[in-house]
Amino acid sequence: MNALKRLSILLSLLLLITACATNLAGRRQLMLVSENQAIQASKQAYVNTLKPFQQKGKLNNDPKLVARIQRITDRLIEQAKILRPETRKWDWSVKIIDDPDTVNAWCMAGGKMAIYTGLIDKLKATDDEIAQVMGHEIAHALLNHSAERMSVAMATQLAVGAYAQSKNASPGKTALAAVAAQVAITLPNSRTSESEADRVGIELAARAGYDPRAAVTLWQKMAKLGGGRPPEFLSTHPSPKNREKALRKLVDKMMPYYLKNKL
Ligand SMILES: [Zn+2]
Repeated sequence: MNALKRLSILLSLLLLITACATNLAGRRQLMLVSENQAIQASKQAYVNTLKPFQQKGKLNNDPKLVARIQRITDRLIEQAKILRPETRKWDWSVKIIDDPDTVNAWCMAGGKMAIYTGLIDKLKATDDEIAQVMGHEIAHALLNHSAERMSVAMATQLAVGAYAQSKNASPGKTALAAVAAQVAITLPNSRTSESEADRVGIELAARAGYDPRAAVTLWQKMAKLGGGRPPEFLSTHPSPKNREKALRKLVDKMMPYYLKNKL
């Protein structure tokens, strides 16, 4: 290994140790990319992720369903903007992916969201439950978990990049960041992140007028989905210990917001 390569590995490690930030919940996070970089990379990642579905005609355009999902997410976004005013600048967007077998939903950095028809149909999800799913997803983005997961992907990509460089085939940094943002939505959140997103998500939904009790029924329905493979959503959103108990406690706190704002 030559000196330059050794130096670049050392620098990467140093970056891993020192690049930290504090999120909305006051927790220190490992950050290889700033939130702004994550937002920029997610724009391309969003296009790249949706493209195969678009090409196969798998973006759902059913006007009734589109209006339903849009109405729910719009109300949540309104609350997100109050909680974190800088997200007013985000280019929020939601798409419905036509895939009856996949129980999943996500929100990238910068508010780029998707929900799969499998989640809506298999769970027979009510508006309140969809609001809990999307509130939880938006909370991950507000809490900078997207950039955090992207950093994990980046750390891996750094290794890949160093390898590619040694073969004189280094992919561009922007392309790497976009790949990292794409990979990020497939990585599991930590249980700490899950608890943070549960707390912020249920509050966004309650303030938007959605029943907090649906957070409990949603996770119950999710856990009950047996059959073949476990839902995609559960692999990226592992269940923290005592989730149900913690959510029930939150329900009591959130009921006043819900009763005040209920549709
Ligand atoms: Zn989650």
